Amino acid sequence: MAVNTKIALVTGSSRGLGKNMAIAIAKKGIDVIITYNSKKEEADEVVKEIENLGQKAASLQLNVAESNTFDSFLENISLTLKNTFKTDKFDFLVNNAGIGIHNSFVGTTEAEFDQLTNIHFKGPFFLTQKALSIMNDGGGIINISSGLARFSFPGYAAYASMKGAIETLTKYQAKELGERQIRANVVAPGAIETDFGGGAVRDNEELNKTIAGVTALGRVGLPDDIGGVVAFLCTEDARWVNAQRIEVSGGMYL
Ligand code: NAP
Repeated sequence: MAVNTKIALVTGSSRGLGKNMAIAIAKKGIDVIITYNSKKEEADEVVKEIENLGQKAASLQLNVAESNTFDSFLENISLTLKNTFKTDKFDFLVNNAGIGIHNSFVGTTEAEFDQLTNIHFKGPFFLTQKALSIMNDGGGIINISSGLARFSFPGYAAYASMKGAIETLTKYQAKELGERQIRANVVAPGAIETDFGGGAVRDNEELNKTIAGVTALGRVGLPDDIGGVVAFLCTEDARWVNAQRIEVSGGMYL
């Protein structure tokens, strides 16, 4: 009997962890819709890579800070589902898009706070709420948090608070969407070498060493350490994993 190919939507998948997740998901035989904020060319490259793996893919522009654009974004998703994927619904939503702002609790401005809220909490909250009407029952939501929601590292009070909020929201999503057999989980990476926060973990040797020193496995993380875990949550093997926070940090600050 033919099994319908599942489809995942990964926000912020033109680069970094989102790109790695999108490719790892495609390797599981799942089609992928990727989104970018400003880097269309990078996004097109990810689409090509996924198509070369034998899966369908498409890319769309999305700024998760602008919730007033979500209705039109989701109309575009519906059109893309119809034209490229020959269906009307998708299965997995990965709320990954994000930025880092480094500032102390005392120094954080209201503008920085609002920007982080919009990108990391309000955006995923309402994007997921609105996307539910075009998601299949039996699918899943994966919210990307951070190790920083469990331990403190000076300079991330506002950013980490948003990640704490998304972790709490995930439990409510799991509870309320269970009747549709939609699972909701958190993946919380430790410090990973990407462009995030100006690429500090990758490019600042001292910071890289400090993080390696507080990590049980003795190094910082790489994008390849993360994507496969998110991809696993999109498979049938993860059907009973619900409302969980999976930290993928090599054991940071144990
Ligand atoms: P990254 O390499 O800087 O990539 C960020 C991605 O998000 C890009 O695809 C970017 O799109 C997109 N993006 C940025 N602002 C956006 C917005 N306002 N609306 C929509 N998309 C936006 O960062 P990353 O390391 O992959 O981070 C991905 C996620 O992992 C974030 O939620 C971050 O908080 C989380 N995280 C990262 C680390 C780490 O150490 N790297 C650790 C824990 C958690 P464009 O390419 O178009 O700009």
